[in-house]
Amino acid sequence: MRSEGRRAPDVDVRVLDPKVPAATVDGYRDTLAHVVPDITDFFNPAWTNRIRLVIDPGYTDGPAAAGDGVITVSAGYARTHPRDLDVVTHEVTHLVQAYSPGTYGDRWHWVEGVADYARYRFGRDNAACGWSIARYERGSALTDGYRATARFLAWAVEAGGDGIVQDLDAALRKGTYGDEFWAARTGDDIAALWSRYVRASVTGWRPV
Ligand SMILES: [Zn+2]
Repeated sequence: MRSEGRRAPDVDVRVLDPKVPAATVDGYRDTLAHVVPDITDFFNPAWTNRIRLVIDPGYTDGPAAAGDGVITVSAGYARTHPRDLDVVTHEVTHLVQAYSPGTYGDRWHWVEGVADYARYRFGRDNAACGWSIARYERGSALTDGYRATARFLAWAVEAGGDGIVQDLDAALRKGTYGDEFWAARTGDDIAALWSRYVRASVTGWRPV
């Protein structure tokens, strides 16, 4: 039984391309029903839980996007990547983040890193499409965002304690985030932490 705060999301789906397989659309819906309670509990329980999902042949800037309560998945991407259902896990995290638009400026790598961390931690079937943060890419940088930053966050949880990603997310939402966050939480500034992370990675550390 679901306790209070574990509500299934209210998802309104619009498919604007009849060539997108119904199984993929159903897969997005099932994925959202499965992951949204976990993601909202973890990051932002006050979030509205209302989502409009649009599969749009007119969206061609990338696989998907999210904003103003709407997840837009490129119909072309849906047709060519029918097993990547957790693309909506990443996107719904952006809705739950509810950061102010300014956060996407010089903090965009945290925005995208947190969304991919959520996909890593709560994704329903990342393996189905070969999505993973297991591999360390040599030469990757914290400011690369996406999986590079998500992988650092997975390590930072070990270094700074479970709760560090929630606190980062909360600070980003409140607009109070600064890089001093890391020294306050771990005793090391962000550059020193990244160096520790790289050393750990090249000597075999991998996320579980
Ligand atoms: Zn994103």
